[in-house]
Amino acid sequence: MGSTRVAYNRKTRRQDLSKVEFETSEDVRITPTFDAMGLKDDLLRGIYNYGFEKPSVIQQKSILPIIRGRDVIAQAHSGTGKTATTSISILQSLDIKIRETQVLVLSPTRELATQSQKVILALGDYMNVQCHACIGGTSLDKDIKKLDYGQHVVSGTPGRVFDMLKRRALRTRSIKMLVLDEADEMLNNGFKEQIYDVYRYLPPSTQVVLVSATLPHEILEMTTKFMTNPLRVLVKRDELTLEGIKEFFINVEKEEWKFDTLCDLYDTLTINQSVVFCNTRKRVDWLAKKMLDANFTVCAMHGDMPQRERDEIMKMFRSGQSRVLITTDVWGRGIDVQQVSLVINYDLPNNRELYIHRIGRSGRFGRKGVAVNFAKADDIRILRDIEQYYSTQILEMPLDIADLT
Ligand code: ADP
Ligand code: MG
Repeated sequence: MGSTRVAYNRKTRRQDLSKVEFETSEDVRITPTFDAMGLKDDLLRGIYNYGFEKPSVIQQKSILPIIRGRDVIAQAHSGTGKTATTSISILQSLDIKIRETQVLVLSPTRELATQSQKVILALGDYMNVQCHACIGGTSLDKDIKKLDYGQHVVSGTPGRVFDMLKRRALRTRSIKMLVLDEADEMLNNGFKEQIYDVYRYLPPSTQVVLVSATLPHEILEMTTKFMTNPLRVLVKRDELTLEGIKEFFINVEKEEWKFDTLCDLYDTLTINQSVVFCNTRKRVDWLAKKMLDANFTVCAMHGDMPQRERDEIMKMFRSGQSRVLITTDVWGRGIDVQQVSLVINYDLPNNRELYIHRIGRSGRFGRKGVAVNFAKADDIRILRDIEQYYSTQILEMPLDIADLT
């Protein structure tokens, strides 16, 4: 209580925004079907052909405003179709006849930028759309060639995109929309400057669309600097965890006992696919080796690997050839592999947002998921904090876990 409730207006600029409670805009409307969105026929065909029948709630609320050109901040639970929301809106906004970059999508990792490119190409299968993934770790020459050929959409990571802007290989005169996926991460200290660097190259009238499952207050505060009267669709933090994902912890007491606990888990569980999160690249390497030595089939991925190797691992994991992936937070956000039903936090995440994103790698689009946190004695306190912050329940893992997943 005591906080002011305001929809953004000019006056809030002069107010102390730290006291403002951001809320979902009052003019959010629902469009219950894709048919009712007035989409182009070839796009509609692409959507249905991709297997979507009905728009998810966030799609019902935000596709139309984005298409109509409004700045939009869209928050929704992990795996409920945010990235698909922007992909559909982007495709509808394109003038295919003009083969110039009209939309720029920025994502925090190369894998996510590539995934979005693939989704855009798939949904736009009947539209003859050119969409290029502009990411680090790949050939500069190829990027320049691709851009030179003409790309309607560029989905990239900030570093490489900025490079292409500086070289004038990525031309901005036709850009009308900037999408920040995982927006809170993109506006965090690690990326913020890079995003502003890119933003300064774009035409002043560029529409801005932000999406994420987590949008902490300070990020929403920042958006008033570069967004105009945005439509906000928000989720209260005590409603942010998904019903479909059961959360547990195992009291491992000491660091040394984590490894045996993990082996025990894999001995008892029959799971589809699972992701194990560690906090450093070194630990990923160490744990993967130890698991392999113990005759478990696992694969590992992190940001120190050459891009080609990262691509290879992604391919193997997406195709189900490999069922256990040990990784860092490079995999924490946005990556969509529907068969993942178990997430293990071998190390607890370093912040509350990451917790939501990591466990959200399971339970995609209404599927069931299980998250297991390995907690040393002094980690229990951190879990209690997460529990309270999101009003969720993280119970001690029962022994009869085998039927959980
Ligand atoms: P988010 O970005 O919110 O985490 P995604 O856009 O990645 O979610 O979507 C999660 C999964 O749900 C993807 O596999 C996507 O293909 C699927 N999906 C998204 N929208 C729909 C829809 N309307 N109908 C069926 N599946 C959908
Ligand atoms: Mg997403």
